[in-house]
Amino acid sequence: MTAVDTETTADVAVVGAGPAGLYAAYCAGFRGLSSAVVDALPEPGGQIAALYPEKRIHDVSGHVAVRGRQLVDNLVAQVAPFDPHYLLGRVAVSLKPDEGGGWAVGLESGGRVRAGAVVIAAGLGRSVPRTLPCLQPYVGRGVAHHVPRLDGHRDRDVVIVGGGDSAVDWSIALAPIARSVTVVHRRSAFRAHEHSVKQMYAAGVRVLTDARVTGCYGAKNLEEVRVQTDGEELTLPVQALVAALGFITNLGPIAAWGLQMEHHRIVVDRAMRTNLPRVYAVGDICTYEDRVPLISVGFGEAATAANHVAVELRPGSRLAPEHSTDRDTTLPS
Ligand SMILES: Cc1cc2nc3c(=O)[nH]c(=O)nc-3n(C[C@H](O)[C@H](O)[C@H](O)COP(=O)(O)OP(=O)(O)OC[C@H]3O[C@@H](n4cnc5c(N)ncnc54)[C@H](O)[C@@H]3O)c2cc1C
Repeated sequence: MTAVDTETTADVAVVGAGPAGLYAAYCAGFRGLSSAVVDALPEPGGQIAALYPEKRIHDVSGHVAVRGRQLVDNLVAQVAPFDPHYLLGRVAVSLKPDEGGGWAVGLESGGRVRAGAVVIAAGLGRSVPRTLPCLQPYVGRGVAHHVPRLDGHRDRDVVIVGGGDSAVDWSIALAPIARSVTVVHRRSAFRAHEHSVKQMYAAGVRVLTDARVTGCYGAKNLEEVRVQTDGEELTLPVQALVAALGFITNLGPIAAWGLQMEHHRIVVDRAMRTNLPRVYAVGDICTYEDRVPLISVGFGEAATAANHVAVELRPGSRLAPEHSTDRDTTLPS
């Protein structure tokens, strides 16, 4: 694979670095194919990393229970020997035929990925975090929409805005690490799991309900927030504010790529092929009769797609890969 500033060339372009996309890149690598993995989010992991990194997942094959963050870390480590070219924080906006029957995936900020085949693993589409106007100037300077690493908040005063599962889960996870954790929620009741809400109170989190953030202050980075609650205005010191207000998901540009769609999903056949030649779709973005939207289902689809891609790009090769147990190392011989 070669990469320059604006153009990346790979055997397979994977759109979406959620679990299905990461595993598709692994399976492609296992077949000796290079991959470029594009994601609009700044880190891999899709919904898992963005929405529930600290939750335990109980139904992924081979794991009795695994935290979201750990599963993503494992997927990234598993594909690492095949050296995928990550293009994170980049939105795939167009899909155009390229020479030799391949495709060029255009990126929003300029540049493109040229590839022999494309695997679309775009999940629910592009997620844009909900926010509050006063937080906007401090995004990246104290304000974030999720918590990639808990440890980054050690000894900080953290304010979490929101009342759903993410807000409550992060407050529980950060309570033993941060100097202080305050949850600001505009309603009196939380939308999160009842048991989690109890845990949040038990963890010593300061909870402000019927409350809203009315102002953010700080010369460069966020230093203080003003919170209106119960007719009273509080000023809280803060070095990190997590706006856990949810995401608006939108299929965005993919809807205009000439793919056959049904209920905002891409229609695929049993090989995960779309109606466009050498374009496959896997994971939550794809649809077929009675599909079950689970991580483990996406893994199977990724393996199916990548092995069919291998046959298309290397005519004469077998559809079934060799057994991974036949290899001494992860890398292809
Ligand atoms: C709270 C919650 C709990 C869950 N618990 C479980 C569970 O216990 N077990 C289970 O099996 N499933 C669970 N799920 C569902 C599971 O997370 C999804 O099925 C899974 O994440 C789908 O994986 P994916 O790779 O298909 O897509 P996603 O994880 O959605 O990843 C898609 C990626 O594509 C990117 N993308 C989209 N469009 C573009 C574009 N145009 N350009 C660039 N990038 C783009 C997105 O940014 C995203 O990162 C849960 C979901 C939620 C919300």
